[in-house]
Amino acid sequence: MKHEMKKFGDIDLSRKILQAVTEMGFEEPSPIQAQTIPLALEGHDVIGQAQTGTGKTAAFGIPTVEKTAEKSRHIQALVLTPTRELAIQTAEELNKIGKFKRVRTLPVYGGQSIERQIKALNRGVQIIVGTPGRLLDHLHRGTIKLEHVQTLVLDEADEMLDMGFIDDIENILEMIPAERQTLLFSATMPAPIEKLSLRYMNHPQRVTITRENLTVPLIDQVYYETRQKFEGLCRVLDVEETGKLIIFCRTKRAVDDLSASLDARGYSAGGLHGDLSQIQRDRVMKKFREGRIDVLIATDVAARGIDIDDITHVINYDIPQDHESYVHRIGRTGRAGRTGVAMTFIEPKEYRQLRLIMKLAHTKIQRRELPTASDILERQKELVQERLVKTLQQNRYDDYHTIISDVAAEGFDLVDIAAAALKLSLEGFQEDAKSDGDSFGDTGGAPGMVRLFLNIGRNQKIRPSDIVRAIASEADIPGDTIGVINIYDRFTFVEVPEDVAERVMNIMHRNTVKGYKVNVEPARKR
Ligand code: ADP
Ligand code: MG
Repeated sequence: MKHEMKKFGDIDLSRKILQAVTEMGFEEPSPIQAQTIPLALEGHDVIGQAQTGTGKTAAFGIPTVEKTAEKSRHIQALVLTPTRELAIQTAEELNKIGKFKRVRTLPVYGGQSIERQIKALNRGVQIIVGTPGRLLDHLHRGTIKLEHVQTLVLDEADEMLDMGFIDDIENILEMIPAERQTLLFSATMPAPIEKLSLRYMNHPQRVTITRENLTVPLIDQVYYETRQKFEGLCRVLDVEETGKLIIFCRTKRAVDDLSASLDARGYSAGGLHGDLSQIQRDRVMKKFREGRIDVLIATDVAARGIDIDDITHVINYDIPQDHESYVHRIGRTGRAGRTGVAMTFIEPKEYRQLRLIMKLAHTKIQRRELPTASDILERQKELVQERLVKTLQQNRYDDYHTIISDVAAEGFDLVDIAAAALKLSLEGFQEDAKSDGDSFGDTGGAPGMVRLFLNIGRNQKIRPSDIVRAIASEADIPGDTIGVINIYDRFTFVEVPEDVAERVMNIMHRNTVKGYKVNVEPARKR
């Protein structure tokens, strides 16, 4: 797909509209938008043809709202749409576009009480989005008047034809002032629509966005259907063995939200979108390349320049706009003969769009069920085992040998000790300490004192004064309240008053002393 690097700011739009578009999270106009908005603003009649999901609503919505006079309370634009659902969605989008301009759009469709619609109409609206049947009803009752309409939009024209609305549409067209602009948007252009356009449009400018032939890489493609995408995503991340991973979102705001949510859940994620400075982007990309963040979250636009070979997973957290975008996104994995996985999250209502993507991209996306809680547990066990084996292989845990041999000397079974150590390392000291009602247990310190274990010692040239200084200054307690200090080759025991022990632990743990990173733990009774 040839992407125009055009920005909304390059189009002659008022500040209020640009502000609204930014707030909607649109980074740049889609191709149909880039080409039709300027024509419509110039006053031409326009026929826009592009497939579903390419942003046709904003393509007519932006110029239509732009041209609407804020002050006038007359209906200035009419959008005809085939279904109630589309009427509601389209009106919502127009209201977003008109947010700062205070242009009000009302959807009018069958199935809703007509009295309620009349009340809403009486409050004054400038744009109506309506289904043909209900609109005719209002026109016959005189509750909607079209004499001030300057812009008429026929949206999803091919679907309106399919649903048998063509006569209704002609009836409506006859009631609108001939001196008007007509915009027609459709995914396809069947003959009756062509004919309609010839009869009712004035020298229309045509914009057709054609699709390019794209090949889908040979990778695993699955989709998950859920109403709770975030929960679903976390589950998948927990069980799936992933390397470098890209998650696609549709808007900048979605990127920010998702990276904050993932961070809060303990995944290390970095977001990439058009609002970041080049320096910020480079920083995120560097971290991602070096594996310092696991997950890159990006908009389509921001991801465009990315060239990384070893991406194992592409996740479509928001369904791609169209099949081209789908193919572009998933093409980031499975490069150079590597294996890759593409996962797409959809909400139930998006199934139709997914099917369309499959059809147009000539590909099959398999349904997969989300991992269950027991899948996750199983995976966690595997991970712990893997890490344990790795730690054993690295063979750098001498510091802890004496602890284990001391405990073993007390008569505990080695397997039990290992299991307890694992529990301790996974669940931490805090929990058990709490359930004991005694925060540190017996650490072997003098009465009123807690004995702490630090994993640095003589080998690191640590002297008592270093320990006193570090604890006193970092934890802000008087040096003379610190008790006995015993320094060994690889570790040190130090006693601190019970009431400040917690604070000393929190501050000193993972802090550095003489440039050495320290682990601090309560000592075990001798
Ligand atoms: P169509 O009418 O062509 O099927 P829509 O107008 O319904 O497509 O747009 C599909 C989706 O794309 C909507 O969720 C819309 O908000 C979003 N969208 C439209 N334009 C843009 C854009 N420029 N950038 C990002 N998302 C967009
Ligand atoms: Mg549409």
